[in-house]
Amino acid sequence: MSEYHVGVLITDFDPLRIKRRWKEAIAGEIHIPFYEVDAHKIVPCWTASPKGEYAARTYRPKVRRALTEFLEEFPKLKRHPFPWNEDACEIDWRLIAGSLEVNTSVSEISLITPGQRAAREMLNHFLAHKLARYNEMRNDPTLDGQSSLSPYLHFGQISAQRMALEVEKSTIDPVSKEAFLEEFVVRRELSDNFCFYNSNYDSVDGFPSWAQTTLEEHSGDKKQHIYSLEQFEGAETHYVLWNAAQMEIVKAGKMHGYMRMYWAKKILVWTETPADALRIATYLNDRYELDGRDPNGYVGCAWSIGGVHDRAWPSRPVFGKIRYMSYQGCRSKFDVDSYIQKVHNL
Ligand SMILES: Cc1cc2nc3c(=O)[nH]c(=O)nc-3n(C[C@H](O)[C@H](O)[C@H](O)COP(=O)(O)OP(=O)(O)OC[C@H]3O[C@@H](n4cnc5c(N)ncnc54)[C@H](O)[C@@H]3O)c2cc1C
Repeated sequence: MSEYHVGVLITDFDPLRIKRRWKEAIAGEIHIPFYEVDAHKIVPCWTASPKGEYAARTYRPKVRRALTEFLEEFPKLKRHPFPWNEDACEIDWRLIAGSLEVNTSVSEISLITPGQRAAREMLNHFLAHKLARYNEMRNDPTLDGQSSLSPYLHFGQISAQRMALEVEKSTIDPVSKEAFLEEFVVRRELSDNFCFYNSNYDSVDGFPSWAQTTLEEHSGDKKQHIYSLEQFEGAETHYVLWNAAQMEIVKAGKMHGYMRMYWAKKILVWTETPADALRIATYLNDRYELDGRDPNGYVGCAWSIGGVHDRAWPSRPVFGKIRYMSYQGCRSKFDVDSYIQKVHNL
């Protein structure tokens, strides 16, 4: 840095432990101003709320109010007053790849094209062909009703602000637009809120106390099948539907949103303890989902297994008051056989 006379360092916000540690380590070593901005979301995490929010209903009015200030057009890029006179050297990706330890046991995914241009094309396709029917199609895993933008968002190949602005501008049915913004703004930003204010975001200790109590009360309930991590990972359960969901992440690098809930809840039924269930769900999510290792993933698993941001439901075996999802419920919502066939054909 001193070689190039760097005067200031700016980084993006991320609530996850590992990235906070990286930044703390850098802050301890440099002697120039170091700023963190929150371009990961639309409303900066600390501005949207100064505390961990209990549920979407408590967070929604705060983030919606703040949107009027923060959901604004990007300013025009200005030419920097000091030109860069150095040669811009090409990045040698082969050299970098050679110096990295890459675990090749997870196969490369060919179904999604990476990069900023592909992300923009995916957004345009979503706006033109899917957004209008998002509300009615997004929960059916046999249909292609979601945006498929989460991997691009996760790797910063598209900005959340850009996506929200384009959706806002759209003239389609306000019900679908609202449904999308509820997931994309309220739920997504609530995930960052949870991980930022709750240092136990990936542990059972992070579950709300009612959920910890109810799971503890049901810890002795009889479970007919217990599977190991290897059996889950190899899609070897006795449920063809669950196995198909697991194979969807292995083959496509992305599971449909509705199936993610069912998939994680079933892991609770087939493991000894909720802590085992959370550990296995998080491990598989982070290992196979292209959008994994993300606040949304930790919250998705904690919502499914530990009632985070949810409410108590009528009590039943194993789940206690955690919301239940069943195979029959899936059957009533979508054509289970065609989902299984769809994954088989991937
Ligand atoms: C067990 C489980 C694990 C999950 N793991 C991840 C993960 O690792 N990474 C991840 O990004 N999302 C995760 N989710 C949330 C959600 O399922 C995905 O964001 C969504 O399916 C991604 O597909 P999409 O971009 O086509 O979504 P769309 O339906 O098109 O939504 C657009 C965007 O809104 C946001 N969004 C949508 N649904 C949610 C939600 N429920 N919570 C928070 N944000 C949401 C995402 O940023 C998504 O890309 C998980 C959910 C569960 C229940």
